Amino acid sequence: MTLDRLLTNMTLDRLNSIKPSTSKLLLHACCAPCSLVPLQAIINSGAKNQCSVLFYNPNIHPIEEYDLRLSVLRKHLADLNINLIVGSYDAEMWEEEVGVFGGPYPHLNNDVLAANNIELRKKRCSACYRLRFKILAKMALENGYDCISTTLSISPYQYTKQILHELNCAANQQGILADAIDYSRYYADSVRVSRELGMYRQNYCGCRYSVAEAELERAERKEIRKQTCKETRKEICKETRKQAKEQGIKLQNMQEQEKAKAINGAKASK
Ligand code: SF4
Repeated sequence: MTLDRLLTNMTLDRLNSIKPSTSKLLLHACCAPCSLVPLQAIINSGAKNQCSVLFYNPNIHPIEEYDLRLSVLRKHLADLNINLIVGSYDAEMWEEEVGVFGGPYPHLNNDVLAANNIELRKKRCSACYRLRFKILAKMALENGYDCISTTLSISPYQYTKQILHELNCAANQQGILADAIDYSRYYADSVRVSRELGMYRQNYCGCRYSVAEAELERAERKEIRKQTCKETRKEICKETRKQAKEQGIKLQNMQEQEKAKAINGAKASK
């Protein structure tokens, strides 16, 4: 089934409201599922031949995961006949510029630690966007592109404001344009289409810290579900006991009425 057929008419209409740059564009892609909507919007706008995709993601850990995400994107771009540029896997540079911020505090259900985790992650992710867009803008300028953009903004799990801010800063530094589009409202479309295409979807952002963070979040969600089930079970038991009690009283009343009727009947027949 083709991608066009998978994106319903409604989605296509919705995508038509996105106006991607028609300049010579270098689009940073983090993975194939996140690229579906931005690429479709570029195709719809007729700017496909002006666009190349850069896969520069030294954040992805381990290397096997990096290779897998790259291979899925490579296949998708080949299907769309869009040029792919692969950046280097600068894992050491990522550790020096981003990894130094560190990872999550290893405890659950503690407000202070949870708040610390969020602050830490915000700083680390901003540095991660900065590094990737710095190289994106540099490569764009060196290779004759006028404009840069990114697929990262489609994910509601990312810091959209920070992404758009860092993208604009990187473009300004190189004196080129930034197509800073917030794609997040199309996230559900990208999930649906990627599932229908049977495309590999990762369950963590990319870096080794995000593996641990995703596990913590899953454990927290599991705990919440468990608590909710416990509460619901308690409510059901309470309700059942109440109903049983009411039924018991009803039954007792009925038995007493029957008994009274029998006594009255016996009295009348004497
Ligand atoms: S969570 Fe994602 S964006 Fe944040 S530092 Fe890790 S790989 Fe980069």
